[in-house]
Amino acid sequence: MHILVTNDDGILAPGIKALAEALRPLGEVEVVAPDTGQSGAGHAVTFLTPLICERISLRGEFFGWSVAGSPADCVKLGVRELCRRRPDLVVSGINAGANRGVDVIYSGTVAAAVEAAFIGIPSLAISLASRGGFDFERAGQWARRIVGRALELGIAPGTVLNVNLPPLDRGEPQGVRVVRQSTAPWTDVYDRREDPRGRSYFWLADSGERDASREPDTDLGALRAGFVTITPLQYDLTEYRRLRWLERHWNEEGAP
Ligand code: MN
Repeated sequence: MHILVTNDDGILAPGIKALAEALRPLGEVEVVAPDTGQSGAGHAVTFLTPLICERISLRGEFFGWSVAGSPADCVKLGVRELCRRRPDLVVSGINAGANRGVDVIYSGTVAAAVEAAFIGIPSLAISLASRGGFDFERAGQWARRIVGRALELGIAPGTVLNVNLPPLDRGEPQGVRVVRQSTAPWTDVYDRREDPRGRSYFWLADSGERDASREPDTDLGALRAGFVTITPLQYDLTEYRRLRWLERHWNEEGAP
């Protein structure tokens, strides 16, 4: 088993180190990750600037490749150029902060996993919710357990599993729930400030609390209730019901 580990918090983030270490018993782990924080980068890809890569060592030992690019760049480069051989699995994380609901659209952590699926490699995105602190060591244990179970069940190419861990610094999860993704939007809160020259600027301060209490069958609701959540994602964004309706009403033959 050859596993490519990446993230969106950057190669020096504690979450990726914990993940790489936790997954070593499952196979050969290679790390290719952004050189800086790329949270919120979504599925960005770099083609106007070069992707500078550097070998990163931790305590004198080679840890992985840093890439001056996005999480999706890291997976592309990792698979095509940097990994010693083609990975059988890509695991992205462990992200500092949950990626549930519409977060998955903005998330670089999730985008890296989706990129792997594009290329035909099964993948998991793993994120840790927090109420203040992050216990990445325990999150790593959970990551190993979940990746191990996924391999046991057999995850086919094209599969993306979005995994969220509840805050682990205050006790064990309530269990594991396979749930759908919530679509509740962010309720954005911006801090309005003034720069030294009197110009206004804004800072996205909080994506707000989303009302998940009515959606216990979603990632948002189950995570808030203290469960580990697993959501299989698809990246064919076609809305099939509307497609059928539009086909009936809009298809034309020949010139008008
Ligand atoms: Mn992040």
